[in-house]
Amino acid sequence: MPLDTRTLLNGLRSGALRDQLEVHYQPIIYLRNGKLMGYEALLRWDHPEEGMIPPDIFIPFAEQHQMMFEVTQILFEKVLNEQAHWNHSRRTMISLNISPSSLPEDDLSTLLNPLTTDLIINRKQVILEITETAILENPVSSGALIHRLKAEGFSFALDDFGTGYSSLTNLRDLPFSELKVDKSFIQNLDAQRSNDHILIDAILSIAYAFGAFVVAEGIETKETLAQLQSMNCYAGQGYLFAKPMPATAIDSWHAQWP
Ligand code: C2E
Ligand code: CA
Ligand code: CA
Repeated sequence: MPLDTRTLLNGLRSGALRDQLEVHYQPIIYLRNGKLMGYEALLRWDHPEEGMIPPDIFIPFAEQHQMMFEVTQILFEKVLNEQAHWNHSRRTMISLNISPSSLPEDDLSTLLNPLTTDLIINRKQVILEITETAILENPVSSGALIHRLKAEGFSFALDDFGTGYSSLTNLRDLPFSELKVDKSFIQNLDAQRSNDHILIDAILSIAYAFGAFVVAEGIETKETLAQLQSMNCYAGQGYLFAKPMPATAIDSWHAQWP
């Protein structure tokens, strides 16, 4: 049964949201040597009646109903606490998805403050991921926010690269250090007659010219991985390496990773 608006809204506004939101972490791997670069934090909502609600459903809803301050606050708190318990966390990057169009600049600074002051996370290790669509919704304030936080030491990734309408102007005008290529371009890479490898090659050249590196999303097969390695793509994530997992699974995953 589709989730109705009232169920979502009541759930988001209930005091129990802090307990019900979970962060899962997906490893990001350097493709040249298979070593761990870091993790992307991805929210899940474990709703008492509805079960696991994926972020694609509840994040847009939370954005529409001005709930993103609270959701992002919970995300940041959980990531900080959980990362502190990983044995290897000091050496890895952590990527966080943010929605600048639904969070005013000052709100985001307030939320990021504990991250910047807490010694557990060096701000150079924090990559803030923003989608092209989010920038398009509010280009002026998103731009101001990115420039300000970049000056404070955070890095930025342009997420879902290639799916929006403004990819190249964003690259020209904003200080992105990373491009995340959407999985729709990656998943057919090894199919016969696919033109996606031409696109990926071009994206890699453009990113390189702007001094940014490329992370390929949605790597599911060894063939796709081999293609990306032969094109010198910098890093990647996908089910081939690991699905997003709860914080409690991270140490044992890391222990068995080469
Ligand atoms: P995204 O940022 O593009 O995240 C990547 C999505 O691809 C994740 O879906 C991940 O589980 C999925 N994925 C990773 N590897 C593979 C693969 O090999 N194959 C396939 N088919 N999928 C793969 P997820 O976790 O459902 O998140 C969906 C979207 O929700 C994210 O897309 C992001 O835009 C949004 N999101 C998640 N957490 C947050 C958050 O804390 N804040 C905000 N603002 N948005 C979030
Ligand atoms: Ca992302
Ligand atoms: Ca993405």
